[in-house]
Amino acid sequence: MRERGVYIYGPVASRRLGGSLGVDLVPRKVCDYDCIYCQLGRTTRRTVRREAYVPADEVLEQLESRLEEESGIDYITLAGSGEPTLHSGLAEIIAGIRRLSALPVAVITNGSLLGDDDVATACALADLVIPSLDAADEATFQAVNRPCEDLSLEDVVGGMESFRKGFHGEVWLEVMLVEGYNAREDQVRRLGALIERISPQKVQLNTVVRPPSDPDAKPLEEAELARLAALLGAGAGAVPPVSRSSAVSSLGSREQKVLHLVRRRPCTADDVARALGINYTEAMKLLVQMEVDGRLSSTVQEKKTFYIVP
Ligand code: SF4
Repeated sequence: MRERGVYIYGPVASRRLGGSLGVDLVPRKVCDYDCIYCQLGRTTRRTVRREAYVPADEVLEQLESRLEEESGIDYITLAGSGEPTLHSGLAEIIAGIRRLSALPVAVITNGSLLGDDDVATACALADLVIPSLDAADEATFQAVNRPCEDLSLEDVVGGMESFRKGFHGEVWLEVMLVEGYNAREDQVRRLGALIERISPQKVQLNTVVRPPSDPDAKPLEEAELARLAALLGAGAGAVPPVSRSSAVSSLGSREQKVLHLVRRRPCTADDVARALGINYTEAMKLLVQMEVDGRLSSTVQEKKTFYIVP
């Protein structure tokens, strides 16, 4: 008998969304990019091929039962271990989520496929779409995002622009700045011109805060990030810190929840404490025990300890 996957995770305390119940639509690192800053490691299957990577009916069944168990959810968020718009049943899944819940639905995407009619139609069923754009020229796009060869920056930006025009919800554009790659002032100014074309309601600048797939991907200082955000004008800002009370997870084994979180992104003890609604000391005890048991290992990035699945 086929083993059922786990497609719902969290709620996690998202810096942008508050309590976010995650829906994971592709296996780990199925993506059409292989970003140098990716917190999930190198892309194992780089493809633009849209497929039913996970069964839509099981995703919706699992979501239904988690919605009955959980409280403190602000958004149902399609994100996770790879690029969610690669799932060919995206429209069916978002429509199914709408039938199950009145909570707002967000899609966190690299935005590369928003020019595809089916992807745009599916994403238009969400309330909020958070695409990313890290480059103002093709060479930087290739260096930072390492996309499939079928993708060009101009097509990606054109896709975002036409999606935004036809979408009635909100678009918050995320820009990930990496020291030495895309964070010079002239690069950010040119990004500003592309962002004007896309015209998102918000622009959020971010930098490398979790261990990246490429050790050359270094973060910017906070003050520099704020200075560059100011160049992009009134709608732009650095991603805010997480609110301590924004996500509370109540049921299920704590170890299982930690494993589900950490599989999707490296987590600090603070992240785990927030996601599980426990204090820092309890989270540390749990993480240290799981490390001793060999279920987790740890790595240090910018003086913070992150836990990962070995
Ligand atoms: S950061 Fe997102 S878009 Fe980039 S490789 Fe990782 S999963 Fe793909």
